[in-house]
Amino acid sequence: MKVLVTGGAGFLGSHLCERMLDDGHTVVCVDNLSTGHEDNLRGVADHPRFHFEKLDICHPFDCGAVDYIFHFASPASPIDYTRLGLETLDAGSLGTRNCLELALRHRARFLLASTSECYGDPEVHPQPEEYWGHVNPIGLRSVYDESKRFAEALTMAYHRYRGLDTRIVRIFNTYGPRLQLDDGRVISNFLRQALLGEDLTVYGSGNHTRSFCYVTDLIEGIVRLAASGEHLPTNLGNPKEFTVLECAQLVLAVTGSASELVFEELPKDDPRQRCPDISKARRLLDWEPKIGLRTGLELCLGHFRQRLAEAGLLQP
Ligand code: UDP
Repeated sequence: MKVLVTGGAGFLGSHLCERMLDDGHTVVCVDNLSTGHEDNLRGVADHPRFHFEKLDICHPFDCGAVDYIFHFASPASPIDYTRLGLETLDAGSLGTRNCLELALRHRARFLLASTSECYGDPEVHPQPEEYWGHVNPIGLRSVYDESKRFAEALTMAYHRYRGLDTRIVRIFNTYGPRLQLDDGRVISNFLRQALLGEDLTVYGSGNHTRSFCYVTDLIEGIVRLAASGEHLPTNLGNPKEFTVLECAQLVLAVTGSASELVFEELPKDDPRQRCPDISKARRLLDWEPKIGLRTGLELCLGHFRQRLAEAGLLQP
């Protein structure tokens, strides 16, 4: 296949490009590099079946015929999407529409990278796909949450009204090599802080929870969903739930760091708990994550050390 990955220079997009090349496909990667980095494409840039174009999907574009479009372009970390609020809304609306039109033109299949943020601060736990969510439509996170909810609505509309062959994946917290050091996410912050010997910043009491999926597990799920015939949203994530405090302690154990924990104010609208119900993915895709948090953190360490050394913050 020839596949198009939007947001291919981002964290998840770059892992997906790599996997698609490994599976024998030709990959066209587009990214406006607003939050993605060409650094993430180091491993694939010279691959004969890989092509990169710097462009903004919010303006109509066409890189030629493709068989599958994986639409991953959007700011995605709380720091990025609150800094780039309007751009985030545009990526989910205008950008998604342009990608769906492109899929129609080339009769390509289409997969939307959506998010557990569609569930907001959930009142149902764990969250199954049937849950409609508890989202503040005007809160700080709304630029991301509503952008992705609208992108889901658009995707379903192209499926229902235009007959487009679509998929929607709701991605829960994912981590791995190539997370940006400064994206403000909990795993990137804790690993960076622990390796630099700085205090680990726990927001609130640290008793709120997240569930963390290692990136290669997630990509495997996406590949399986892409090959399936399922049009309705499907959760992918690791159902093992950790408090933020447990996560901090695990990072200290894995890094052997003597850093201390400091408690800071919990950001507004920060969901209290989040955990995917992955029964559907288990049943439909015969998929479940294999890599636990401790092993996953160990697998990330090399990457974080290297990037900190390149930034001159850590001795190589
Ligand atoms: N968090 C924290 N310290 C940090 C960064 C994040 O305690 O340095 C918390 C944050 O408040 C949230 C959880 O960790 O409750 C996960 O945050 P992240 O930004 O990684 O993802 P999201 O909130 O989008 O799930």
